[in-house]
This record gives sequence, structure tokens and C-alpha cells, in this order.
Amino acid sequence: MFSCSIKSQIELWNKPDVNLSTLTAVNSENDKGRAFLSFLRANNVQFKTVAKNLTYLIEMQKQQPLRGFRASNSFSTFHHSYHNFEDIITTFSSWCQQYRDVCKLMKIGKTHENRPILAATIEKENSNQKKSVLIECGIHAREWIAPAICMCIFQTLLQNQQNLEHHTFHMVPLLNPDGYAFSWRSQRLWRKNRRVNARNPRCSGVDLNRNFDINFCRVGASKDACSEVYCGPFAFSEPESKALRNFILNTAKPYATFHIHSYGQLIIHPHGYTRRKPPNAKNLNALAKRAVKNIKRNRGRSYKSGQTSSILYLSSGGADDWAFAKAKASLSYTIEGRDNGNYGFMLPQNQILPACTEVWIAISTILSENKNS
Ligand SMILES: [Zn+2]
Repeated sequence: MFSCSIKSQIELWNKPDVNLSTLTAVNSENDKGRAFLSFLRANNVQFKTVAKNLTYLIEMQKQQPLRGFRASNSFSTFHHSYHNFEDIITTFSSWCQQYRDVCKLMKIGKTHENRPILAATIEKENSNQKKSVLIECGIHAREWIAPAICMCIFQTLLQNQQNLEHHTFHMVPLLNPDGYAFSWRSQRLWRKNRRVNARNPRCSGVDLNRNFDINFCRVGASKDACSEVYCGPFAFSEPESKALRNFILNTAKPYATFHIHSYGQLIIHPHGYTRRKPPNAKNLNALAKRAVKNIKRNRGRSYKSGQTSSILYLSSGGADDWAFAKAKASLSYTIEGRDNGNYGFMLPQNQILPACTEVWIAISTILSENKNS
């Protein structure tokens, strides 16, 4: 199926997982797409068409929910729609300023195209010993739901400060601003950052989630600059991955890290770069299972959990594996939010809040259950 999809220039949104359970392909409306569909039929591959008009879905994502309704940075309406890069950083900064007794804003780096990478520490000063938690969103440009989830969790942390009794939170709401801005203005399905690759100027960008210094570029990553999973010329070659590394090592020093992606409804933990189990696999697994159970019980949605390399695929250079192995975070999770492939990266705006609620249930379950164990 892979070779047929490549011949037909069909874009695959995800690699099939180890059970070959779901695969989403796009561009099936042109001649080449129709050839791909014939191939599926001829080989008795079950499939369903979930969206005939991708352009329409893309336009819907950029629309404000009400005609004439201006982008708003008010708490009550912000999460009703997706926001561009400028809106996100302006709002993130202004909310932090509004709650400056608990929020400290930082610029942790600058991208190839000179955009700032922002972070915030949300912390309440009292006598409790606090554990440090990092939440990172938006490493992959096209996963618009990820920064939207960070913004919504940010609001929760600022307004419900009982969450700060036992934990200090560090948040990077949009780690790949250049890629994100590019996905708004030009290619909606762009994944990487916007590095100009000197040796291959035809193909831009590095997959930031393959650029961390953990088994660098050995598996599930490519040295080809044109690949979607190009690892970059060397580990931490990119300003974005370097910014997160330095923030984690020098400021956050987290015991738990959460890396928010889409899509697939998965709560997965190290290792991703090897099938070897981490020493605390049992605990990582048990906590993820509790999170899955709580989401199901409270929201009725089914998520899956497990070790990345066993339920997804092997890949090296990931931020989660690096934080776990090199920055000594004892808990590290990648959460692939909604959905299961029906809309994929085109998740409608009215699913932002439900998607965020599910991720927040996962994070708060893992943190509170770990405290109790
Ligand atoms: Zn991703």
C-alpha cells in the first residue's frame, strides 16, 4: 500500500501503527487519487471516505464561529476557534500579565524567521514542596489542536489555582511558530520547522521531534532533507529544539513532561527509539491506564495507552525520550489528542474544548495518581 501511495503521490497523514489498524490518506479526488482507491478495492482493503472536500475543511478551520465576530482574547471565547501565531502569543502574554502574581513570562528562544518562542512558569508561592511539570505544545506545525489545548490548560491553571498547590507548571504553548505560521498562510499540512536546508534548498524544514539528542537519526527518522521526518544535520541543530532543551535543563527541571500532539487518542510513554522497556515501565503504564479510564468514565471517549515503540512505531530523536533519558524526567508522556482519523488534523473548532478537557483529565490524573502511589 505504501509503494502504491507513493506512486500515486498520495499523502499519508500517519504511518500505520503496529496493528495496521488505521491509515489516513488524502488527495483522493484527482485521477491519481482515484487510481489509489481502485488499488484499495482490488486488494480488498477496507476504507471509508471521511471528507470529500479538504479545502472546505481547511477554510472552516480559519473561520470565526460567528460571522463578523472578531478574534477575541477574552477567556470565555478564545477556545471557540483556532488562532494564528500573532493571536496566540499576544493572548498568552496578556493572560500571564493579568495573573502576574502566579505567572512569569519568558522568551526562551528565537526561530530561523525571527519569531519569539515563549514560555511561562505558573507557580504559587506557599510552603508546600512543589514538583515541577512541563507541558509542551505545537512542535508539529499542522497539529493546530495542540497549541489550542495548551492555551486552554493555561487558562485552567491561572484560574483554578488549587492545581498549583503541589505542582509548578512550565508551559511552552507553541514550540514551532515558523512552521505554524506557514501552515496558516501557505501549506495547511506543513509539519516541520522552516530551516532553509543549505545543501538542498528545494526542501525546507527539520522535523523538530527527530532533532533531540537521543539515538539521533537511527530509526524512524531520515537524513533526507525532503523527508517529513528529516532529523536535521545534527542533534539540536535547530533553535526550537535547543530552546526547549535549555528551558528544561536550566529552568523547568521537570519530574514530569507532557508533549501534546494530534491525532490518534493515545497516551504513550518512553521508549520510542527502542523496544527496550524503561526501568519504571510498570508505573508509567499504570498511570497512563488510569488516565485512559478516567477519560472514558468522564467523557465517554476511548484512548489507548502503552509504550510508544510497541503501540506506534520506532522513532529516535523525540523530545519525550530525550526528556526522560537525558533530562531525568521520571514521567514523560506524549499525548496524541483527538481524533481517531475522521477529521485528523482538520479537527473542527467545536471540538477544541472537549479535546482539551480530555488532555487535562489525562495530565491531572497522572499527576495526582503518581502523588498517591
Ligand atoms: Zn506530532
